[in-house]
Amino acid sequence: MPNKYAFVIDGEGKTLSPTKFNNAFRLVRIGKAKLLSKYPLVIQLNKVVAEKEIDTTKIVLGIDDGAKKVGFALVQQCKNKNKVLFKATMHQREDVSKKMEKRQGYRRYRRSHKRYRPKRFDNRSASKRKGRLVPTIKQKKQAIIRVVKRLNKYIRIDKIILEDVAIDIRKVIEGRDLYNWEYQNSNRLDENLRKATLYRDDCTCQLCGATDTMLHAHHIIPQRDGGADSIYNSITLCESCHNNKVDDNEYEYKDQFLAKIDGKELNLKAPMHVMQGKHWLREQLAKTANLETIAGGDTANRRIDYNINKSHSNDAICITGLLPVDTISIKQYIIKPLRKKSKAKIKELKGFRQKDLVKYTKRDGTEIIGYITSLRIKNNKYNSKVCSFSNFEGKTYRGYGFRNLELLDRPQDLMFA
Ligand SMILES: [Zn+2]
Repeated sequence: MPNKYAFVIDGEGKTLSPTKFNNAFRLVRIGKAKLLSKYPLVIQLNKVVAEKEIDTTKIVLGIDDGAKKVGFALVQQCKNKNKVLFKATMHQREDVSKKMEKRQGYRRYRRSHKRYRPKRFDNRSASKRKGRLVPTIKQKKQAIIRVVKRLNKYIRIDKIILEDVAIDIRKVIEGRDLYNWEYQNSNRLDENLRKATLYRDDCTCQLCGATDTMLHAHHIIPQRDGGADSIYNSITLCESCHNNKVDDNEYEYKDQFLAKIDGKELNLKAPMHVMQGKHWLREQLAKTANLETIAGGDTANRRIDYNINKSHSNDAICITGLLPVDTISIKQYIIKPLRKKSKAKIKELKGFRQKDLVKYTKRDGTEIIGYITSLRIKNNKYNSKVCSFSNFEGKTYRGYGFRNLELLDRPQDLMFA
């Protein structure tokens, strides 16, 4: 069983050291504390703890800021082995960029259907400001800050450490030598190059033309043969073309691919936006706690040195630099940032609401933890009331009744599970 810790605050809201789950429940049972939140588990002691009695052993928050998932870890510096108090992976909202595209589409439509309308982009002072954050990126960084602020209410954070992944555009273009760790796990820093490649190729498979699918950046001359890790040796392929056609037949396609990307203009907007986002996040976090950054390669090296599996939350542990830790086997929270206002037509049905955290028990007793994604009254003769819910691996269960559904939590702006 993994360790589970509950956050603890005193009667005045001062943050104390976390305690084991069992102890937290015991304190609530015997009336010495009350339950403030179940997800994450937070208790408030009835008594006020004097300042001088509070344990002030250093607690560091590591953040691994990936494009789609963000790892968080709180590690406490101890005399022997350091202690992981909290770890979580946040799944960033991915519906935002699609919405933005849609909105842009509307604007374009309106523009073309009116006599004259100046481009909206030009009449916004915000968009003229240099270094403006793209909304899709800003929204993701704001979610990270929300998590940090929430944690800060429950626990003292002495220091925040972020990975410094400044994008070197020159290197994306010219190629560079791989670090040792990249050979072992070459899907990390590649992200810059991958993005640059996809944007240059209009996010379209350069073999079959597919767009609405999983896209890969493929090395035209394989790296194992010394092919450069540069945009001039990189082309966009869909997963299927990559896996089923090109893999192991790289040289059959080499000339065709090189011709295809020859002279294409580079779109470096995307990596620039990512960089602006990282910069903005750093500024904001520095307001919350003492902030430090470390180089990306260090994290991976540490992970390899201590034989820790790659995941966003484990990377966040490595980022704190407080290694070795007693165990990485602690409850892994999943965090989902929620939209401020639900746009659903039906707000509540049978006592359940949109984005409620629920547990569904199947007939054979297996349990599914997930959240409500829709509430609906079926247009049949019984007007059956049903819902759909998703688990955190992205699987959706549609059209279920409410009988075997249990409400676990009603999150506001952040869902913890
Ligand atoms: Zn394809």
